[in-house]
Amino acid sequence: MTQFPIFDGHNDTLLRLHMSDNAPSFFTESSEGHIDLPRAEMSGFGGGFFAVYTPNKNYEVKPEDYMTDSGYDVPLPPPIQQDEALAFTNALASRLFRLEAASTGRLKVVRTADELTRCLDKGIMAAIFHIEGAEAIDPDLDALHVLYQAGLRSLGIVWSRPNVFGEGVPFRYPSTPDTGAGLTEAGKRLVRECNQLGIMIDTTHLNEKGFWDVANITDAPLVATHSNAHALSPIARNLTDIQLAAIAESNGVAGINYAVNMLREDGGLGTDISLDEIVRHVAYIAEKFGVDHVVLGSDFDGTTVPDSLKDVTGLPKLLDRLKAHGFHNDELQKITHGNWVRVLEDTWK
Ligand SMILES: [Zn+2]
Repeated sequence: MTQFPIFDGHNDTLLRLHMSDNAPSFFTESSEGHIDLPRAEMSGFGGGFFAVYTPNKNYEVKPEDYMTDSGYDVPLPPPIQQDEALAFTNALASRLFRLEAASTGRLKVVRTADELTRCLDKGIMAAIFHIEGAEAIDPDLDALHVLYQAGLRSLGIVWSRPNVFGEGVPFRYPSTPDTGAGLTEAGKRLVRECNQLGIMIDTTHLNEKGFWDVANITDAPLVATHSNAHALSPIARNLTDIQLAAIAESNGVAGINYAVNMLREDGGLGTDISLDEIVRHVAYIAEKFGVDHVVLGSDFDGTTVPDSLKDVTGLPKLLDRLKAHGFHNDELQKITHGNWVRVLEDTWK
């Protein structure tokens, strides 16, 4: 194993593999997408939250089309139906379990903090079954219990589009995250039921009112798996200092997203930026709110990352930049995986 296996807050690799009929196998080293098993193993990627996300059918907007001199405000796609989302969720979750079965022990879907620790120790890729946007779950929460038994251990209440539980932020720059209403009654029930089952709640993509609703209800540490510091990049998707303080206060974590528009001060989509843009967000949270409260949440295979990173093979270079910034070994241990293990020990039952 590497000294600092990087356990990561968010990837969309399952969706990438699913949407491309002739994507190379996950087990073959290629230059397509951001993650495959050989590239991950050679780069110290210890695993992470594998998102199951249901996209809108036949819906495509290009953020570039909404760019103006003063910023952008990309409209959200319409809500989707539960049956459609549940069918798609089954398909992506099945893909994850089939990858595990075909991996000859190199990838494991983890359901406990002990399993996660063992995988990190042995260099086995640890995958958490995570759902991004709870559309697949009915307001009575029947599907939640079934999905939990299948291995679901983390749930983002919303991707940005609205659903029966709440609504998320639009892709808007500049903007605060305070863009709409908080959780619905069903959303509040969902938080309590996740607490009871031991499913981690992800506040990434939620608007600010929804975030505070989670904060007021949950008995687990507050987590945003792939959101950055709003003070450094004032896009609606990022976390304000008050939100970051609440995350730290709850002993939770924020995962730094490598999306260029969430790193850059100008919110722009240009990819020609240095790895120090990622370090800047890590250091801001570590120095202002404590190194116990920052982790990495790449958004690999779901976003546009800096050219200087390229894909998962750029992680050793990122680790070097974090070292060069002055983070010591005990701090790097926490940022790369230790904080995640702590939060999941405190959250999962
Ligand atoms: Zn996301």
